[in-house]
Amino acid sequence: MASSAATLPSKMKAWTYPEYGKSSDVLKLQSDVVVPQPRDDQVLLQVVAAGINPIDFKRMLGMFKNIDSPLPIIPGYDVAGVVVKVGSQVKKFKEGDQVYGDINEKAVDHPTQFGTIAEFTVVAEKLLALKPKNLSFVEAASLPLVIETAYEGLERCHFSAGKSILVLGGAGGVGTMIIQLAKQVYGASKIAATASTAKLDLLKSLGADLPIDYTNQNFEDLPEKFDVVYDAVGQCERAVKAVKEGGDVVTIYGAVVPPATTFMLTSNGAILEKLEPFLESGKVKPMIDPNGIFPFSETPQAFAYLETGRVTGKVVISII
Ligand code: NDP
Repeated sequence: MASSAATLPSKMKAWTYPEYGKSSDVLKLQSDVVVPQPRDDQVLLQVVAAGINPIDFKRMLGMFKNIDSPLPIIPGYDVAGVVVKVGSQVKKFKEGDQVYGDINEKAVDHPTQFGTIAEFTVVAEKLLALKPKNLSFVEAASLPLVIETAYEGLERCHFSAGKSILVLGGAGGVGTMIIQLAKQVYGASKIAATASTAKLDLLKSLGADLPIDYTNQNFEDLPEKFDVVYDAVGQCERAVKAVKEGGDVVTIYGAVVPPATTFMLTSNGAILEKLEPFLESGKVKPMIDPNGIFPFSETPQAFAYLETGRVTGKVVISII
């Protein structure tokens, strides 16, 4: 049951880290964390589910410590939950609304100290959208950061109907969304995607026409070149060899080799709103790893699983 403003507790349970390090060493469950209060443009959410992403453990390792918020930090970017309190300037949402989003507008520039792996979190209303009715909270929490990244990268590549695309890392959180958006939202003419042998059928089921087993084939040796190459793995040097002349290459991780470009996601609830018809119709589906749903108490195990780099789709923590 969602709390109402009148019955909100002042303290909550949250996973926090007081210092940077490996998740297994630094993550601690605390039960006396002060419930954050929403600013004028924010809402307070009772968290029902929180998706986790590689950026959570990279940040936890201290990779962005020069531009991070102060420790101790509650990790977690992605959330699905229920609005329990609204700031004075909030217009779109009211108490009781079921919403989801990535709570950090800038992924590495002072992401909030109060993340989503907690019973409550505060978030600016512009970063949220109403949860599609057909999706569970766990499904919704798996989406924001990866679907917004997939979308922003495709926009930056000027992707459009009739173009072909090669997706490097098609079975990961971002890759599973790139394939689906390229097909269902943009109308790609052909989608090729890489993964290891056991995941090739998954790539097909998501909409890939040409699954490439990276364990026995080098994508850059294919005679065919692509209008767009989207690198979600960190293989930019090879990616630029697979694009047609005049085509676009975008990478979201690692070194950037011209003519490729890169970006850090800017979170925005408007992207979720734009994609809502595709989610509500089931054309674009959340993709959660078959072993990827963890109870709140097993947050360290959820991180250990994500840190293998082998997950299929997403890992989500069920908070309530
Ligand atoms: P995931 O942890 O979900 O990726 C795991 C997947 O990667 C697995 O399914 C694995 O498949 C696949 N994979 C690993 N190595 C290869 C390879 N050599 N070729 C093809 N597939 C491979 O990560 P995300 O998708 O969430 O994120 C991907 C990267 O992008 C991360 O480094 C992340 O930090 C970054 N990122 C950057 C953003 C930005 O704004 N710049 C935003 C979001 C993410 P298999 O088991 O078959 O190898």
